[in-house]
Amino acid sequence: MTINVAVIGSGPSGFYTVEALKKTGQDVRVDLIERLPTPFGLIRGGVAPDHQTTKKVARVYEKTAQADGVGYFGNVEVGRDVSLEELKDMYDAIVLAVGAPRDRKLGIPGEDKTGVFGSADFVGWYNGHPDFTELKPDLSTETVVVIGNGNVAIDAARVLVKTEAEMAETDIAEHAAAAIKASAIKDVYMVGRRGPIEAKFTNVELREMGKLENSVPVVDAGVLPDSVEGEWSDRDQRLKERNLATMKEFLEIDPAGKEKRVHFSFYAKPVEILGGETVEGIRMERTRVEDGRSVGTGEFFDIACGLVIPAIGYYSEPFPGVPFDDAKGIVLHEDGRVGDGVYAVGWIKRGPTGVIGSNKPDGETAATQILEDISQGSKPGHEALAALLVERNVRVVDYADWKKIDEAEASSARAGAPRRKFVTVEDMVKALD
Ligand code: NAP
Repeated sequence: MTINVAVIGSGPSGFYTVEALKKTGQDVRVDLIERLPTPFGLIRGGVAPDHQTTKKVARVYEKTAQADGVGYFGNVEVGRDVSLEELKDMYDAIVLAVGAPRDRKLGIPGEDKTGVFGSADFVGWYNGHPDFTELKPDLSTETVVVIGNGNVAIDAARVLVKTEAEMAETDIAEHAAAAIKASAIKDVYMVGRRGPIEAKFTNVELREMGKLENSVPVVDAGVLPDSVEGEWSDRDQRLKERNLATMKEFLEIDPAGKEKRVHFSFYAKPVEILGGETVEGIRMERTRVEDGRSVGTGEFFDIACGLVIPAIGYYSEPFPGVPFDDAKGIVLHEDGRVGDGVYAVGWIKRGPTGVIGSNKPDGETAATQILEDISQGSKPGHEALAALLVERNVRVVDYADWKKIDEAEASSARAGAPRRKFVTVEDMVKALD
């Protein structure tokens, strides 16, 4: 009998699971269940709009979604439209591929002030994710502080200082493009609690910062060591050497004629967000690195700013009905097996690290485990869920519907841009009627 599998979440980890299950050649039917009408998770809503090459991986997912025995239930939220318990009655196995959609908190006073936007929200806003359309960050400030030295921090800083021309061939949400164009931003401080050698951004992303039309990177020569010393893998050593060389090249860049600056600031950790209801600044404590960890020195300084973007990593939400490890921010599992026919892949399994391809092995592991654990299917699968959702009047967006949304977005794009995104679920669904 056919084994019916439901994969909850249609980002990279969900798609790699579907692909791995289909590749087994076994009699498996898989349904992707997605809360939004649109598929692809962080490829659409997380990868920066000016990194279109990275987004091209969605073409592979597209083929997977259109393969025989693969279904797509978009605009269906587990917990709202159907419960996990109901899915367990309908599917032989359920794979959680729901990612890590929330921001980790800094845990410092003032974090709730207006003008503090975690990177998950901020990136969602410029990427047109429907959850963040109404974020409306006030960009009338001249100074922004981005906390963190990862690729998300660098994405946020870059998108804020790129010109309209540099963003012309991107799918940045119109509201964000307009707000950034009208912004008063001159200085973006990207602050790391450790040093330039410990920074986590990758070299391609770092180098981009030296090639911007109207912005220059600013680095204090005094913090750059002569060479990279430490105990790490050869791969990390090479990355760190490349980053150090790039930062040294930044020292040679002529700032003449450029109106904006991205300051690469190191050895400082945030201790308080300053201001009344709205952010007016941030208090930082100088740090030094001891045994790889950042340690406060007791010396403080303030940066006056109107916007703070903590880009310090993401966090998964507990999934209703599934045991959760609060400390790690992931579901409790044994190598992806959650128990009771439930499996986990991607960031809800491993935490929010790694690149898109890092999700592939998770999908392969889950597919292997499912076929090890279940030799015969006994649940009805697709038709049962489809019938239940009809009964509940849920407006399911299937893959053919998504293609219509996709075409509508592509056909209304400005010249050179790949698409003009719908930024509300209502508008996406309206495009189908
Ligand atoms: P990340 O790489 O883990 O970087 C998080 C940064 O926040 C680190 O610099 C970290 O410092 C800092 N941090 C954490 N807690 C802090 C605190 N309490 N106070 C101050 N600083 C704090 O995470 P990410 O940037 O969110 O990226 C997530 C994953 O997606 C990464 O694997 C990333 O490479 C990937 N990604 C890739 C791309 C790309 O390839 N273009 C784009 C976006 C994201 P410490 O190092 O000291 O902990």
